Amino acid sequence: MKNIFKEVVGGFYTLTVGMGITLREFFRKPVTVHYPRESLKMPERYRSHLIFTSNDDGSSKCIACNLCVKACPTDCIIVDGEKKEGEKKKSVTKYDLDFTRCSLCGACVEVCPTDAIVFSKRYNLAATDRQQFHIIDLCRDLEERNKKKAQ
Ligand code: SF4
Ligand code: SF4
Repeated sequence: MKNIFKEVVGGFYTLTVGMGITLREFFRKPVTVHYPRESLKMPERYRSHLIFTSNDDGSSKCIACNLCVKACPTDCIIVDGEKKEGEKKKSVTKYDLDFTRCSLCGACVEVCPTDAIVFSKRYNLAATDRQQFHIIDLCRDLEERNKKKAQ
């Protein structure tokens, strides 16, 4: 009889402790997100592939000076530009990044005189073939972002 009583008290105690933990966790802020409906905010230092920054009118700040191309240790940037009529500086017409070779070293970002490129915070890049990251077209990416903003 004494043993049964001990078991009942012990069982009730562990049940209370368990329910207490459940209740405490119930009111805590969740550490998980409902991916892909929700996205994580990546830390400031996180580096994904390069993207363009833009002027107020949505155009790229890149002046096709090629300094980033020269600074890149893995030759993974191709830049082209043209001088439009009436403009003093060149405008970028092509900016391709071979992300399969980029080491995310940051030399290109540091050397850029117009702060035209930054590391994006995109963390959910996925593909079945690495060739899909062979060329990341920064000009097209900026166009698409501008279109999304305009919608
Ligand atoms: S982060 Fe480094 S490796 Fe990547 S494109 Fe820039 S300079 Fe090249
Ligand atoms: S991103 Fe910057 S460094 Fe590279 S070509 Fe454009 S302006 Fe020059």
